[in-house]
Amino acid sequence: MMNLNRRDFNQLLSKGLVASGLIGPFSFAKTKNTPRPEKKLGIALVGLGSYSTYQLAPALMDTEDCYLAGIVTGTKEKEKEKIWKDRYGIPERNVYNYQNFDTIADNDAIDIGYVVLPNSMHADFSIRAAKAGKHVICEKPMAVSVAECDAIITACEAAGVKLSVGYRMQSDPYTKEVKKYIKERTFGDPLFVSSDAGYISRGNPDQWRLNHELSGGGALVNMGVYSIQTSIYGTGSNPISVSAQEFSTRPEYFKATDETITAQFEFPNGAVGHMFTSHNANGNRLKVHCNDGWFELEPAHSYGPISGRTSKGNVISFPHQSQQALQMDDFAKHILTGSPNVAPGAMGKRDMIIVEAIYKSIREDGAKQNLDLGDMGLVS
Ligand code: NAD
Repeated sequence: MMNLNRRDFNQLLSKGLVASGLIGPFSFAKTKNTPRPEKKLGIALVGLGSYSTYQLAPALMDTEDCYLAGIVTGTKEKEKEKIWKDRYGIPERNVYNYQNFDTIADNDAIDIGYVVLPNSMHADFSIRAAKAGKHVICEKPMAVSVAECDAIITACEAAGVKLSVGYRMQSDPYTKEVKKYIKERTFGDPLFVSSDAGYISRGNPDQWRLNHELSGGGALVNMGVYSIQTSIYGTGSNPISVSAQEFSTRPEYFKATDETITAQFEFPNGAVGHMFTSHNANGNRLKVHCNDGWFELEPAHSYGPISGRTSKGNVISFPHQSQQALQMDDFAKHILTGSPNVAPGAMGKRDMIIVEAIYKSIREDGAKQNLDLGDMGLVS
């Protein structure tokens, strides 16, 4: 067995096998090559880019109810395949490429297909995984249109498999605490929510995130979905309207995708919200003002540790755990025990309805778009 060390990985990086500039906090997995424990569900990662490499695969070394059983990668990426097989003890029979992926139907070792590809490929591979009888985790944004979200949901229902969106924050203890504040009215009724999610992109101008055909959008579909999510769990309700504005300061770099977007929400109880998302400015914060105080998370959306404060003078603090491990275990538990699905397909679809309304408002010079979401995708 090849023993991969940090230098091997650095060589991979220098060969451009891993996207630059978009890599999150660095972590190395412990090498484990244990036989499949009876109760753990086998996950196949579909797409071995930076998120799979640096977050999901290492997190799967710490999960209790699922484990890394297989990989699906580009046909030409044989070198990468070998490294993954050696490092994680993945048998050849659990290695697929994009072409023969559908034959995964015959492999009982794989229970879940986790789609970690460019956004425009989410629907195709999620539907193929469902048709192969596998449960599906689809990365965020769920797809590049509401119609595609519907197609994924329909395919999973038809196949009788479970579906979840890669919303790691939904499994984070800080999110649960925010939901508790709202449910218990710890600070009274929410009146104003403000949420920022952005970073400065200076990477390769040819990366898929800047290619509209592959990404389906810019900052809004990448980071903006976090602002949409926090605005919703920060108030406990779906917005009833949205108005939005787009700003472009580096059009030579952001040729095809949105750079910076602001949007304002109205919520059913009279609360209002403001969100900011950008690929050209940093932002990572949630603040909720209620009629009897406030609470705030900053950072609010990163891999952690998250940090928070409240008007009562206390610090919100939980021991740091891998959000990705919690997220994948939550979904495995949902499949195994029927516990709640904390990030169902309806939640991903709801967010895409809001994304489409934001783009429509921008096209109509900021005109208010009414939203009729009811309780869609709300999970307490
Ligand atoms: P990446 O560029 O690092 O990896 C993309 C993968 O897709 C690579 O394995 C690449 O080979 C493959 N691929 C197949 N066809 C491709 C094509 N035509 N162009 C480019 N790549 C192609 O991207 P990533 O950062 O791993 O993101 C993948 C998905 O995961 C995205 O949907 C992204 O939004 C999501 N993501 C989620 C989080 C999170 O916190 N939940 C974090 C990062 C990424």
